[in-house]
Amino acid sequence: MKSVLDLAQIGQGMYNISRMYKVLRPDLTGCNWDKLVWEKWAAPKHKFIGWIAWHNRLMTRDRLLRFGAPTEASCLLCGDVQEDHEHLFFKCKYSKMIWKEVSNWLDTRIKLVNLASARRAIRRVKKDLCRRVLHMCILACIYQIWMSRNTALWEQKIFCIHTVVKSIKFDIVTRLRNMNTRKIAKENREWIDKLV
Ligand SMILES: [Zn+2]
Repeated sequence: MKSVLDLAQIGQGMYNISRMYKVLRPDLTGCNWDKLVWEKWAAPKHKFIGWIAWHNRLMTRDRLLRFGAPTEASCLLCGDVQEDHEHLFFKCKYSKMIWKEVSNWLDTRIKLVNLASARRAIRRVKKDLCRRVLHMCILACIYQIWMSRNTALWEQKIFCIHTVVKSIKFDIVTRLRNMNTRKIAKENREWIDKLV
């Protein structure tokens, strides 16, 4: 990588704020993050947590340990391995069961193993409505898994999968019911009615 900021330049007074910003900000080149997270049909709270998760900035235990916080490393939902974003949202057996239930609900066979695969799965869906609903579901799952993880941390209890999936479905159905149905084609409305 070509260095944006040459340390020698600092001593010579040749650096500036914009160069320093480029050094400190996360490298997001090549990633269409905004389109990925800012699905306008999704609930704002889902988009907010999704945006942070997609940047790997939620305070998972691996990050807390890196910052020197006195915490254990193990995943709060399964206790098996170190908690990081990829494990928590995709590789944890708890999260896998949630994805499986939601996939069955949508009648799709997508397998999500990390954030990149979620992005590919969304892109692959040709039909606009289905793509939007899948997108909403992925963001809702990330949100609910994060909430479950925090409940495990602060209240020492783990929601059963059924409860979490029910919350995800409720969030999606509520959003869809509040849509302006005049803008949704008849066959698409029928598809939504079946989902609801
Ligand atoms: Zn786990």
